[in-house]
Amino acid sequence: MIYFYSIAISKYPLPPLVYSSQEKLERGIRVLVPVRNRKKIGYVLGEVEPPPFKTRDVIEKVDKSSLLNDEMLNLAIEMSNRYFASIGEILDLCFLPSHQDVKMTRISITKTRYITLSTSISKILSSRLGKREEEVIEQLLETDPIEYSTALKKFPRSTIKSLERKGYVKIIEMDSTFSLKKFNLNAEQKKVVQEILSEPFKHHLIYGVTGSGKTEVYFEIAERVLETSKKVLILVPEISLTPQLLLRTRQRFPDRKIGVYHSGLGASRKKEWLEAVEGKTDILIGTRSAVWIPMKNLGLIIVDEEQDESYKQYAMRPFYNAVDVAKRRCELEKATFLLSSATPRVETYYLAKKGEITLHKLTSRAVGKIPKVNVVDMRGRRGEIVSHELVTQMEKVAKNGNQSFLFVPRKGFSTRLQCADCGYIFMCPNCDVALTYHRNKGILKCHYCGYTEKIPQSCPKCGSTNLIRGGIGTERVENEVSKIFPGLRVKRIDREEINDISSLEKVLKEISKMKIDVVVGTKMITKGLDFPTVELVGVIDTDHVFAIPDFRANERAFQLVAQMAGRAGRGVKGRVIIQSMDPYNPVFQAITKGDFESFYEEELKRRKALGYPPFKSLILITVQNKNFKEAKKCSEVVKAKIKDGPFQVLGPVESSIFRLKSVYRYQLLLKCEQIQTAIDFLKSHLTKENLEFDPVDALKIDVQPYSTF
Ligand code: ADP
Ligand code: ZN
Ligand code: ZN
Repeated sequence: MIYFYSIAISKYPLPPLVYSSQEKLERGIRVLVPVRNRKKIGYVLGEVEPPPFKTRDVIEKVDKSSLLNDEMLNLAIEMSNRYFASIGEILDLCFLPSHQDVKMTRISITKTRYITLSTSISKILSSRLGKREEEVIEQLLETDPIEYSTALKKFPRSTIKSLERKGYVKIIEMDSTFSLKKFNLNAEQKKVVQEILSEPFKHHLIYGVTGSGKTEVYFEIAERVLETSKKVLILVPEISLTPQLLLRTRQRFPDRKIGVYHSGLGASRKKEWLEAVEGKTDILIGTRSAVWIPMKNLGLIIVDEEQDESYKQYAMRPFYNAVDVAKRRCELEKATFLLSSATPRVETYYLAKKGEITLHKLTSRAVGKIPKVNVVDMRGRRGEIVSHELVTQMEKVAKNGNQSFLFVPRKGFSTRLQCADCGYIFMCPNCDVALTYHRNKGILKCHYCGYTEKIPQSCPKCGSTNLIRGGIGTERVENEVSKIFPGLRVKRIDREEINDISSLEKVLKEISKMKIDVVVGTKMITKGLDFPTVELVGVIDTDHVFAIPDFRANERAFQLVAQMAGRAGRGVKGRVIIQSMDPYNPVFQAITKGDFESFYEEELKRRKALGYPPFKSLILITVQNKNFKEAKKCSEVVKAKIKDGPFQVLGPVESSIFRLKSVYRYQLLLKCEQIQTAIDFLKSHLTKENLEFDPVDALKIDVQPYSTF
């Protein structure tokens, strides 16, 4: 008997191919197939009728059984359609990069036993233990849980068994349930928990002010889901948010297996992935790529800080939005979909208003008070980086023995070098962006392509030596603060200074141990961090965020400032000072009054008038080519082929970074009434035959882009 299968090819940007097989193949299983004269990994999508053309045979099976259930396969098929990617490219996201490599693909799934602490630390500390027993406990206090087999290599079985008998440790496999610690939620939190649990198949948004206890609410919901033997996925925007949330999750669920997953993990990434797939992980905390992990039996996906732009993959194919993927995954797997934010996207707010997402509000802080916010008018104060108003407050905070956080958004944007005489700005020769000034290293650096040069002495255009630094960067603020307060311990937190998780964890520990008085940081520390001793938040400069030529500029500025303000006053009475050259901007008014709704309503009016999301959908097509003339020509061909489509076409125009890594870029922006009709139209019109060039390399098609500049 010969069977025929439709098979999606890994790392292959074209539709699935048909292969024959002597053996019946399970849907979702990975196989090795010939593609031209090479072997490739393929994903079996399903059996098909014998085709009228000659087919080649599947070489062999890679997996013993499928890791992908029907829901996962259907999700991949839908998303490949939405994001202009092949099914193979999407399914690749469900596996680790090493699994897409023909040589080392086999995944063996086994059940593993773990040993884990099953009593409180205080009880352990107050009891008498043998020396070997103590060693086991010490090890567990450091890394709980430990694989049973690993533990046996280090400790005698009798010691572990004795600890188990005494009730200090447990030996667990997956799916075991434990008694869990309870946390007393306030009335508002309890109501939200009840409402969400009573409608598990709906979409939910927890819209709560910073510090209102959103995290505790979804911990409670997670607990209920875990009790039904289902698994929980928590998506977080950035690695920088993971350490604190991870710690809190571990404390909240001491008996559960908590996994972490993000691309910065290195060697342990494989272990984390495997444990999630094997069903050992109860709660997986991960960045956007974790949404694709084929965890089975998923009962809940939480998207923390749902407004964050890092949920969108835009720098490489496929250009997906993890929030949308999570939403669809929940629908297919009948899991609860839960968004959480103090500053939801305007689009999300709109869906909540229309009732497509159920809105749950948390209006007061669980501990502490909403801080008082003041805007300082910086007009006419040239050279004043830290205003005297802010300095006065910082002095008070230092006297109280508390901490100040100063935020300096977007270091690259505000640290350019400029000629004071002719206005020339030092630009990257490869990209159309200003170079960033790094005083400590004595260089100018491009943050897009990495180009560096020594700090020049004179202007190449007019020869003047009167060069000035425009804008304000973290380094400059750090130096300024150290000058004003020589006695305070100042720490800078940005991507230059903190470039891996362990250095971040170290600095967070220092902050919580009060070894730092003033933190000067970028966006990296605006969100999620929860330190009770931050009394003052100073926002040094956000004016340029409003000036970015994009329809989301207001929304971004609003979210940024509101999130920053939210770091203050969690344990102590807090205060926020915003410095601005545009102090009467309605965005600041909404924030100082604590009236976020007025911001959303205004913004919705503006979006409606201009035809932007959520009223119209956008598709951004970027045409890229190393040759300037080719790029221009191709962009005109694209325009000609789609101008009669079911949308409005803006452009082609030069992208705001016209040359990036030596590639020229033109862009077309489509405003669509109906996103799927638009996608279908583009699919049938932007083909290789029709365009006479290969769209896979030449075009970047971003559906619902987060930014258009
Ligand atoms: P959010 O996620 O909304 O910013 P968190 O969940 O981080 O808020 O809560 C802020 C702080 O308040 C945390 O330190 C948390 O432990 C505490 N907290 C939350 N809910 C309660 C509660 N019901 N009782 C006491 N403290 C709470
Ligand atoms: Zn000059
Ligand atoms: Zn560059």
